[in-house]
Amino acid sequence: MNRAPSEFDLPPLVSALHALLPAAAVLHTLEERRPYECDGLTAYRRLPGVVVLPDTIEQVQQVLRLCQALQIPVVARGAGTGLSGGALPLTEGVLLSLTKFNRILHIDPLNRTARVQPGVRNLAISQAAAAHSLYYAPDPSSQIACSIGGNVAENAGGVHCLKYGLTVHNVLQLTVLTMSGDLLQIGGASLDTPGYDLLALLHGSEGMLGVILEVTVKLLPLPERAQVVLAAFDDVGKAGTAVATIIGAGILPAGLEMMDKLAIRAAEDYAHAGYPTDAEAILLCELDGVNEEVSEQIHEVRAVLTRCGATDVRSARDAAERALFWAGRKGAFPAIGRLAPDYYCMDGTIPRRALAEVLTRISAWSEEFALPVANVFHAGDGNLHPLILYDANKPGELQRAETFGARILQLCVAVGGTITGEHGVGVEKIDQMCVQFRPPELAQFHAVKHAFDPDGLLNPGKAVPTLARCAEFGAMHVHGGQVRFPDIERF
Ligand SMILES: Cc1cc2nc3c(=O)[nH]c(=O)nc-3n(C[C@H](O)[C@H](O)[C@H](O)COP(=O)(O)OP(=O)(O)OC[C@H]3O[C@@H](n4cnc5c(N)ncnc54)[C@H](O)[C@@H]3O)c2cc1C
Repeated sequence: MNRAPSEFDLPPLVSALHALLPAAAVLHTLEERRPYECDGLTAYRRLPGVVVLPDTIEQVQQVLRLCQALQIPVVARGAGTGLSGGALPLTEGVLLSLTKFNRILHIDPLNRTARVQPGVRNLAISQAAAAHSLYYAPDPSSQIACSIGGNVAENAGGVHCLKYGLTVHNVLQLTVLTMSGDLLQIGGASLDTPGYDLLALLHGSEGMLGVILEVTVKLLPLPERAQVVLAAFDDVGKAGTAVATIIGAGILPAGLEMMDKLAIRAAEDYAHAGYPTDAEAILLCELDGVNEEVSEQIHEVRAVLTRCGATDVRSARDAAERALFWAGRKGAFPAIGRLAPDYYCMDGTIPRRALAEVLTRISAWSEEFALPVANVFHAGDGNLHPLILYDANKPGELQRAETFGARILQLCVAVGGTITGEHGVGVEKIDQMCVQFRPPELAQFHAVKHAFDPDGLLNPGKAVPTLARCAEFGAMHVHGGQVRFPDIERF
């Protein structure tokens, strides 16, 4: 069991940490802790008890063993770009920053792998591999900032994941420390390893099973040619249909992204990407491979887009225009930040066939809740990112945004999808886990957590709800007269 709040005594903990780490690696004053009070989900803020910045595996091991002995919880933190509050600190806990683990240890061009520390930025891997004409495929839009350790912990996705898979499909090996300080080597150099697939288990584990301290990623050859096609539509539903039709035609783009009117205008004002601001929706479809294959696919994609009612179809004329088209998409989140003081970014996944229906429902709810929504998302994967705009200073707006967001996630589940595509559960979607899973499944999640971290000290309160919490949540959501989890005691 974790300590009761009253038992948390900061000065002795700080002294004990000073015995393990250089003074500059232990941050405990208010000013020092303030920058860590939230991640990318800024609606939730909490000051950490103390922040540590170790830079060797041995130091992390000692910190974890100390916290285990004192029964103090630990939250691992990469770059803090997470959008579901996974790295939200605990007032009675230690925030373990991995930012000093920022070295690329080895690039092996023959085996096409890179061994890196967890604090290395996603984009830095591709930049370093470019010297060997290689790159790392998963490319979250936050790739200039987010860390590979955070990518593994969230099983991050990105534009390229439609064709090349999520983080889990691009990692071969992990070095992980458990809460008790045991060093684990998980996975291996080959595609399969004996035993349970702990490598997959660690992906998306949100810092709750172990601290990732080394990552070996797969690298891919840079394609001979990459070309992007931009299509404009006068109707969001038509754009949604075009997405399903492209994939249905047997074409697998390297990226297939969609933006609606609000997102297009914000991105255009911000990045001057050349987007048609009068369109209701645009699609960006990237094709990569050998020259002839790309030419053939562009021809096919253009024909499909026209058949689906695109009002304008443009291929980027050169590398500079291609970069500009993507700059608009990759800068869309910060661009939308200019439209309202706050936004709440949802992340649900739906079958592609339901795109048009779900977008129409979101638009109707936007009017009902009186909160604008901008949509910018990985359409090819069916991974939605409705960004609900609100002003936290206006009483009730945050709560309205949260209720609206919860309704969207539940719709995702209802049409056969999931409550997260890539941003994780964190604190944000913990109640929706009760909608997605039944008690026997949640019980297995708890059993896995217990096997790795019996005292529940790593990132407690995130990602996996207690059954009691689901009972509480179920009591609020009565479906068809049926209370969810009727067998569980209410508190
Ligand atoms: C503008 C913007 C665009 C984004 N676009 C995308 C996108 O396209 N695709 C996508 O998937 N995500 C996206 N994200 C979300 C975010 O960038 C990813 O979830 C990313 O993987 C988080 O990495 P991080 O280093 O910032 O991790 P943090 O936010 O610091 O932590 C995230 C989680 O990982 C855990 N963690 C971090 N490091 C470790 C470690 N070494 N060991 C164990 N646990 C650890 C933390 O405890 C926490 O639970 C976006 C975010 C922003 C702000």
